[in-house]
Amino acid sequence: MPIYAYKCTSCGYAQDEMQKVSDAPLTVCPSCGKDDYAKQVTAAGFALKGTGWYATDFKGGSKPAETKPEAPSHACGTGACPACN
Ligand SMILES: [Zn+2]
Repeated sequence: MPIYAYKCTSCGYAQDEMQKVSDAPLTVCPSCGKDDYAKQVTAAGFALKGTGWYATDFKGGSKPAETKPEAPSHACGTGACPACN
């Protein structure tokens, strides 16, 4: 079930709401009761991070960069160093 970030433009109350795709968007603010409660499009990324899969994907992307320095057998890492050869 998707999680939508909602924010009230009237009082600033913000809350993540778990909704079915078929559910109608919320409009009434749970805090002040005004009709200014709206879905935040820009905050969708935060909801994805919260599920964990975004963080996992980021870890996998940084792995090749971490393993590269371990590959050279020479201490200096160049392979053409007179001291090592
Ligand atoms: Zn409000």
